[in-house]
Amino acid sequence: MPVSPATAAADDAAPATETAAVPTGISAARKRKNRAIAAETRTGLVRRARRMNRTLGAAFPDAHCELDFTTPLELAVATILSAQCTDVRVNLTTPVLFAKYRSARDYAEANRAELEEYIRPTGFYRNKASSLMGLGQALVTGFDGELPHTMGELVKLPGIGRKTANVILGNAFGVPGITVDTHFGRLVRRWKWTEDEDPVKVEHSVGELIERKEWTMLSHRVIFHGRRVCHARKPACGACVLANDCPSFGLGPTDPAVAAALIKGPEREHLLDMVGL
Ligand code: SF4
Repeated sequence: MPVSPATAAADDAAPATETAAVPTGISAARKRKNRAIAAETRTGLVRRARRMNRTLGAAFPDAHCELDFTTPLELAVATILSAQCTDVRVNLTTPVLFAKYRSARDYAEANRAELEEYIRPTGFYRNKASSLMGLGQALVTGFDGELPHTMGELVKLPGIGRKTANVILGNAFGVPGITVDTHFGRLVRRWKWTEDEDPVKVEHSVGELIERKEWTMLSHRVIFHGRRVCHARKPACGACVLANDCPSFGLGPTDPAVAAALIKGPEREHLLDMVGL
């Protein structure tokens, strides 16, 4: 199955904080609308957030974890490798790795130099090798070689933080989880769902807005939208399916043709169709 935690696309190099960003080049009426959205009541915010989630559901019906894996252990390994690396590169690296290292014990007993060679293309390979070997050892010692199913147990494992744990819980075990990566944090702040910068606070704030059963799919949809439409430096506002509900409309180009050219990915035609372009 083809997340994505850290994506190193050039577009992501923009600063995470953009509270000073003020849309320019939009009409006075639209500026008033943006201000009205941002000044809504709590009930209004919940309704808007859930409406946006539904719109994203229609925009990205096939949103999914973009790392390839077949078992919880493979997903954990792929997610560890995805730190500071694109999912595409991880997916190019893991087939050979997964063929060689099939169990937690394989990682626990790995020859370090050999393992480092396998994962070198993903960067930071020495640290990542330490994490994978430590993970294997912890799983063999404490969990019969299987990944545990709870956040509390997962975050105690080497190489696994809260974000990775949520990826594993949501995508390997069907436990709803919100994955706050660079895209997710940027977008929900643009949407004024939260002003928090800390990923754990963002996770809790968004969890209070969106129904629990939606958390995993919401994460995929938001990450898809961030990769394809709401880019860090040039969001495609003029061709965005969320334009009506977004208080940051105008942060990027509002000319429909200019904005349409910024949209990426296989869903492009469908997304343009949704906004009548
Ligand atoms: S692309 Fe523009 S309108 Fe769409 S969500 Fe991002 S900031 Fe808002």
